[in-house]
Amino acid sequence: MECLFCSIIKGDIPSAKVFENEHVYAFKDINPNAPVHVLIVPKTHISSIDDIDAGNVCAVAEVLKAIPEIAKICGLENGYRVITNVGEDGGQTVKHLHFHLLGGTKLAVKLN
Ligand code: 5GP
Ligand code: ZN
Repeated sequence: MECLFCSIIKGDIPSAKVFENEHVYAFKDINPNAPVHVLIVPKTHISSIDDIDAGNVCAVAEVLKAIPEIAKICGLENGYRVITNVGEDGGQTVKHLHFHLLGGTKLAVKLN
């Protein structure tokens, strides 16, 4: 299934790449909510956490495994936050599983 983030991963739509390996692509959010705001995605299309299954969970694990390395590249030695939005109430606007990596400041504790 093609989507905005699939097009970014393929390079059909430009992005500010931060990290890439066989399974994972990470790029700067176009509308940052913090000094560091990076989106980390599996290269394979998974719509959201709701669509994780036995066949694709390894791709999700690769994304999670890459997070500390990406945080280090971004200079987030003092900590960071990882968020994934799911569905309408979760505020998900792009239907390709992505983890927001936020940091570079002391983040407010705010759930909505
Ligand atoms: P969501 O709301 O689905 O959790 O997050 C989608 C994120 O994708 C938003 O933070 C939004 O700013 C970002 N975004 C949307 N379109 C683009 C784009 O074309 N390029 C980049 N780099 N980020 C995008
Ligand atoms: Zn996709």
